[in-house]
Amino acid sequence: MARRPQKLLTPGPTSVPPEVLRALAEPVLHHRSPDFAEVFALAQERLRQVFRTDAEVLVFTSSGTGAFESALVNLLSPGDRVLAVSQGEFGERWQKMATALGCDVVPLTYAWGESPRPDDLRDALTESGAETVFLVHSETSTGVVSELEPLLQVCAEAGALSIVDAVSSLGAVPLDTDAWGADVVVTGSQKALMTPPGLAFAAVSERAWERTGTATLPRFYWDWARQRRVQETGSTPFTPATSLVVALVEALGIVLDGGLETAFARHRALGRACRAGIKAIGLELYSPDDDSAAVLTGALTPDGIDAVELRLALRDRHGITIAGGHGELVPRLFRIGHIGHVSVEDIAEALTAIEEELSAAGADVDLGRAAPAALEAFGTVTTA
Ligand code: PLP
Repeated sequence: MARRPQKLLTPGPTSVPPEVLRALAEPVLHHRSPDFAEVFALAQERLRQVFRTDAEVLVFTSSGTGAFESALVNLLSPGDRVLAVSQGEFGERWQKMATALGCDVVPLTYAWGESPRPDDLRDALTESGAETVFLVHSETSTGVVSELEPLLQVCAEAGALSIVDAVSSLGAVPLDTDAWGADVVVTGSQKALMTPPGLAFAAVSERAWERTGTATLPRFYWDWARQRRVQETGSTPFTPATSLVVALVEALGIVLDGGLETAFARHRALGRACRAGIKAIGLELYSPDDDSAAVLTGALTPDGIDAVELRLALRDRHGITIAGGHGELVPRLFRIGHIGHVSVEDIAEALTAIEEELSAAGADVDLGRAAPAALEAFGTVTTA
């Protein structure tokens, strides 16, 4: 089937560097072999550096949602009270997941686009007596990256175990798993870690390991104790996606060679560039207009212009894939991801295509403004 190659400017999956694609083309490794054990050990070492943890990082063949479910079934028992903080699509997903698994979910729900506040969390913890908290670091449906550290502090003060969704944040924005006291941090391979979809990770603190001893939700594929036992032998209990692990080692090598702080600075600069371009077109931003919005930029189409049509035009006429909105935002919202293997030139190209397509659809936009604005705002990446 002939397919037009697409530049992925979505907040996952993201385009991957050529070195990572080449690693995927290497002969398949057997998962019970010394060759794989060596690669797997390197993957774990690099994962610990990216998570900034000394803890065990569990590696699952699944998407991020699977790793999040693994946290629930290993840490909770039926009827356990869970404070599930939500400020968008993914927070709502975790509320539904815990309800489906028979937990007593106390929602702390914010309007989409808001950021959770430590004082609210403290009050909700006191009121509910919940011993487990779900937090979403980067809410990909809105582009809001929360200030995680103070929220984790509140959890620690209350003695509650924190489970953090870092699916679109890890590797893009600072997240210091150990220093910030996060108990479980979950992410997937397909975003800032610049690897195709198919692997998910959970960093698990000692406190969380202690909880696994009393948690009684049923588990089999997701059983952390067995996972840890077999990981110590250089493999996983069930056949892992060995080629993805090879690719991951390559991708994490690229991230770590450049340095995490440089990666964070680059993501901030890409966000700045994208916002400048969107504003130069005259569009309204949906995601925050500040450096916290380093993962993606959300914007609204002008009145009368359908965001779905815009995305299709970009895909079919320009070979650029961007993301849409969720729920009632579908007709207006589009989201440009700038995580992972994305350059400012990629962003400028997408913004130029957006200008062109908006103009072709009858919007009153001046052509040729977005790319220069983006390139100028990108400036020079410094880690200061
Ligand atoms: N959480 C966040 C913040 C996400 O952005 C995503 C995916 O986009 C998920 C969870 C779900 O991850 P997956 O699709 O890998 O299961």
